[in-house]
Amino acid sequence: MKKFFIAANWKLNGNINMISNFFKYLKLQSSIHSKKNTIIIAPPTIYLERVYKDVSNMNIFLGAQNIDIHLKGAFTGETSVLMLEDIGVKYVIIGHSERRLMHNETNDIIIKKFHLIKESNLIPILCIGETEIDKKNGKTQEVITEQLHDIFKKIGKSAFKNTIIAYEPIWAIGTGLSAEPKDVQLIHKFIKNYIVKHDSIDINDIIVQYGGSINYSNAKKFMEQPDINGLLIGNASLDPAEFCRIIKISDHIL
Ligand code: PEP
Repeated sequence: MKKFFIAANWKLNGNINMISNFFKYLKLQSSIHSKKNTIIIAPPTIYLERVYKDVSNMNIFLGAQNIDIHLKGAFTGETSVLMLEDIGVKYVIIGHSERRLMHNETNDIIIKKFHLIKESNLIPILCIGETEIDKKNGKTQEVITEQLHDIFKKIGKSAFKNTIIAYEPIWAIGTGLSAEPKDVQLIHKFIKNYIVKHDSIDINDIIVQYGGSINYSNAKKFMEQPDINGLLIGNASLDPAEFCRIIKISDHIL
């Protein structure tokens, strides 16, 4: 049976007041309690524990936006996978284009993070996707293949079991220009076909989210595509009313 994974990436946004109002609103929405979907909220690291208090009574899981490549030691300013586990985090976003571009995270760094998460009890949300230039040059499949291939090389055959892949075309993130749902469907199919060739996973167990300028008006068309298993939402996830409306749409599709 299809189930959607709807994840909110708050990025560097929010404060105590916003969090308090956000969950006050969510608690009153029946769609949040329906348990049809898996709902994940990834606030900034400093608010993880604060958000944990709210989500532990609701059908929502806690996500982190990043981890360090080390488990402990002299790495000022970093957060380890062990610390995230310790405070009740379940999912970790890695490979986001903002970290690849603004924090110089290479595929090698992302693979190290992926590996650490796979060795823990946490679940990675691995972001992959092409730039606008890649798309113009017809290189989308090539870029995605390279990103997935590098993971297989390091992790081996069951890399994508219990993992979420977020296909996020970089040109669509935060721009208001979402991709075409039909194009995304084809790319998700391509990703799944590539994975089953290398992984022992059943194709129906592969989870691929779409991310890139999702909002209340365009969410339905994406969720209706057979190989879109969820959404990774930035801007629109900061508004509790809009976020809940998107969840409600997914409930109706299921
Ligand atoms: C994201 O940052 O992962 C994202 C999809 O952002 P937005 O929804 O704002 O495009």
